[in-house]
This record gives sequence, structure tokens and C-alpha cells, in this order.
Amino acid sequence: MINHLYVHIPFCTCICAYCDFFKVKYNEKMADKWVMAFANEIKHKNINPKLKTIYIGGGTPSALNLEQLEAVLALLHPYSYEVEEYTIECNPESISLEKVLLMKKYNVNRISLGIQSFDNRLQNIMERVCSKEEILQKLQMVYENGITNISVDFIYGLPTQTLEMWENDLREILKNPYVSHLSLYSLTIEKNTKFFKLGYQPAESDLETKMYNLAIQLLNEHHFEQYEIASFAKNKQYSKHNLSYWTYQDFYGLGAGASGKNGYYRYDNERNLLNYFNNDFKFEKIALSKDDVAFEHLMMNLRLRWGLRLSAFKERHGIDLLQKYPSAIQKLIHKKWLEITDDTIKTTYEGMFALHDVLVELMMEE
Ligand code: SF4
Repeated sequence: MINHLYVHIPFCTCICAYCDFFKVKYNEKMADKWVMAFANEIKHKNINPKLKTIYIGGGTPSALNLEQLEAVLALLHPYSYEVEEYTIECNPESISLEKVLLMKKYNVNRISLGIQSFDNRLQNIMERVCSKEEILQKLQMVYENGITNISVDFIYGLPTQTLEMWENDLREILKNPYVSHLSLYSLTIEKNTKFFKLGYQPAESDLETKMYNLAIQLLNEHHFEQYEIASFAKNKQYSKHNLSYWTYQDFYGLGAGASGKNGYYRYDNERNLLNYFNNDFKFEKIALSKDDVAFEHLMMNLRLRWGLRLSAFKERHGIDLLQKYPSAIQKLIHKKWLEITDDTIKTTYEGMFALHDVLVELMMEE
């Protein structure tokens, strides 16, 4: 039984210069067509009506107008009766009081707000459009109108960003009483982005490490627990939907450009919007071997601060990790990147930051 659903809404009011996601600039007529196609897609899919989490991402779902947003929420309503966590990604410039009240009416209980930085100069470089004052005012409006589980996204390692600018962003958001979850991403410069075309380079690794460490230290001081490489929660308000990815659960993916997973295959939905508007819900199926599944599970689960239980892993995949990777695990423990206590294997803080190298070490012993 699949308990988690991701819906991809590909429209954005502005296109950020660093973004490599599947998205197009919002256009009312196109979005109307998208909503009609989505209504057909959902009819054709056999979705479990007892979902535990729904996550509407994108793109920017809040870019839809009120009617379009209501149509999407109404289409998802039959699947939301038992939902524990229902998240919508929003951007500060397109979220309004009317939209928040509508979300509330349809039981949305979590908002993930893209902030990226409060710094005006960095906002300009990213080609984002919101002032600090507007962002703070929108956070307050969301909270005071009943959606109190609020996550925000920030990026570090931006072009020209100094450690001091990053500290200012962190201190500003940590002063905010409405935010209970933070996701902090280090900038990667992808080929299809304006940043790449402009020739921007990633931050020096020394600066990136200092920024990451500073974030951990400040967030810790403010009672935000780092429970995943890039995720921090107050009062255990972990993202239940994202936890389903990190613990390697299956999930549906709806909408052009979405991905899903079901047992021994993953799928990527058609990205061509014209085909999607013609109700062509093609997807590319990627078969996974037993070994792929086990390694992907390990890879995802090691992102989490509390790691994974060796006995549960053995039960699920028939693999004893200590027997499969004896030397790599010893080496990683020696480097203080992995820890084993009783039945649990997990990354240390340093190991989390170096997860890519941890995984390469394990793969070499395959
Ligand atoms: S970062 Fe978000 S808001 Fe910006 S273009 Fe990408 S999907 Fe749209």
C-alpha cells in the first residue's frame, strides 16, 4: 500500500537564475489546461484514498490563481481524509490571505516557503523579487491564519555571499517566532541555469564548510535539531513526507515532471506539457535490481541523523551490512564518519557532510 503522494505543479511567477527544476513561467491559460489534464490524470490513477502525506511541490503551487488552486485541492480532497501531513510549497510573492484560507479549508497543515536569502543584493542576483519585510509579513500572515507548521528554504554558497551575509540570514530567521523547520541547501550550479551561462562558480569548499558548520552551531543554539543533512526541526516537527523518501518508502508522483517509486521500479512522468495537456500520461519506468533497492535505501537512510537499524535492514533486504561491507565500515568508523551502536548504523555530523565520500567508500567494496 502506497501512503505518500507528490504532486508537481510546474508554474512559477518568476524564474530564479539558479533553478534547474522542471518549471515554466506562469500563464493563466496554460495553468487552466494543466488543471484539466491533472483532473484526468488523477481519474486514471488508482490512488490509495488513505494517504498519510500529500506534498504539492513544483514549480510554485502558490503561483496558481484562486480558482485553479481550489480545483487542485478539491481533486485531492477524497485522498486527504486520513492525511497526517499536507504540505504546499509557496513563494512569498504569490501567497495571499485568500489562498491561505483556501488551503486551510482543504486541510493543508504545512507550508514550505522558499526564502533563499533576505539579502536584497543576493535576491537580485538570484532574480527573486521579495523584500525582507514582505517575507516576514507573509510568514506572520500564514501562521496567524492557522497554518502553524511552517518550513523555510535557504541557500548558501551564493555568488558574492560572505560568511557574514550568511550569518545575517540565519540570525534573522532564527529571530522569527513562526518557523519550526528549516531546509538549508548549498548552491550547486547546474548546466541549464542562468548562473551557469553567466559563468558563476560554486563557493570555495572551505567557505561552504564554514557556512554549513555555522548553520549547525547557530541552529543548535536555537533548539533546531539537525535530523537530516539539510533539514532542521524545532520540537520534533520533522517533515513526515520527506521522511518517507529518506526511509525509502514508496510514493506516487502525479503531474508532468513528477517522479514516483513503487517497489522495484521508479518512474519519471512525461515532461512535455503539450503531451500532458493532451492527456498523454506517459512515464519512463526505471527497473531496480534487489541490490539497487538495498543500496538506495542505505544511501537515503544515512542522510538521517538517527541512521538505520541493522536488523530491520536485514529483514527488508536480506543483507547483513556488517558482512557486506566489513572493511569499508571499519575504515569509515576509524575516520569518525560512521558510528555503530547496538543495532544502529549512522553517520556522524562530519560523515553527514561527507556523505558522498562515505557512499563511494561503501560502493568500492561491492
Ligand atoms: S527555485 Fe522555485 S520559484 Fe524559483 S524558478 Fe525554481 S521552482 Fe520556481
